[in-house]
Amino acid sequence: LRHFNIPIFIPELACPFRCVYCNQFNITGSCKAPDADVVRQIIDKHLTTLPVERGRVEVAFFGGSFTGLGIAEQNKYLDLMKPYIDKGRVQGIRISTRPDYISEEVLQNLKGRSVVAIELGAQSMDDEVLILSGRGHTVSDVVEASRWIKSMGLELGLQMMTGLPGDTFQKSMETAMQIVACQAQTTRIYPTLVIKDTPLAELYASGQYRPQSLSEAIDLCARLYDLFADANVKILRMGLHPSEGFISQSTLIAGPYHSAFGELVLSKVWQNRFELNPGFSNGKEVNISVHPSDLNAAIGHKGQNKLLLYNYYSKVRFIADVHLPKNEFYVDIYR
Ligand code: SF4
Repeated sequence: LRHFNIPIFIPELACPFRCVYCNQFNITGSCKAPDADVVRQIIDKHLTTLPVERGRVEVAFFGGSFTGLGIAEQNKYLDLMKPYIDKGRVQGIRISTRPDYISEEVLQNLKGRSVVAIELGAQSMDDEVLILSGRGHTVSDVVEASRWIKSMGLELGLQMMTGLPGDTFQKSMETAMQIVACQAQTTRIYPTLVIKDTPLAELYASGQYRPQSLSEAIDLCARLYDLFADANVKILRMGLHPSEGFISQSTLIAGPYHSAFGELVLSKVWQNRFELNPGFSNGKEVNISVHPSDLNAAIGHKGQNKLLLYNYYSKVRFIADVHLPKNEFYVDIYR
């Protein structure tokens, strides 16, 4: 079954926190939370275009801290889903929120209203990085909320960021290891970007913050990808989707933004696999077989991995082989 999410963006209105990289805290007045009619219209529109008979459909409330809304407000949105769920047109609800906005009472309410998955913005599992980033919660908040979510039998997602103030390659790797230790089933990896009208933009302007370069972010995320893949943690996204925030050319000041960021990371993952594999010995021609779903990533963004291999072989062929497991490959060298 394919999985389809119907996204409903709930902006963080009047957020009391001030994460250094975020410009959402001041959007009150310029952005409106969707009302019941708008939510229904979004769902109906998606249901008419999605091949729902071949998939599982979930409604995903994202963008803000859903459980930061009052219980009545949360229920107003959740109860709108009931007719869709009762008729089997939607199978569940996903929400994203902050780790310190989770309590047993909140979880009971969500679970009783068909919420099946909760994604927490963990961002880092290093308290110093969290403080420097103005997150307003601690690592133990993430660990405790994760434990509650798991104990209620809900799917747990833990999102992380790279390149936060005070962050390092090693700290990001340790964050990923702790996300695995919390038994998250899914993750999202967002490299930090410097956005206009944020405290981070001021730090950047005064030289107190240096963003990751695009290649640093890609190298790190490729390592994170392997770590999560080995631990069976599904990566739902790498890099910020332009529609997910308020990012446009005029608001983005600096940082490792690329519209095909996830694709670049996957290319790097496969480049590392080829470079580190002793199976690549001298020869004239090479055939590389991969699972069909890995073909594009193995060939690389704009064919970059294939081009690299042409430095060593006069002919390079990539073959889709449905019998190979995902993330594995088979090499034939012709001398
Ligand atoms: S990222 Fe931080 S400041 Fe921005 S909306 Fe979320 S909690 Fe508030």
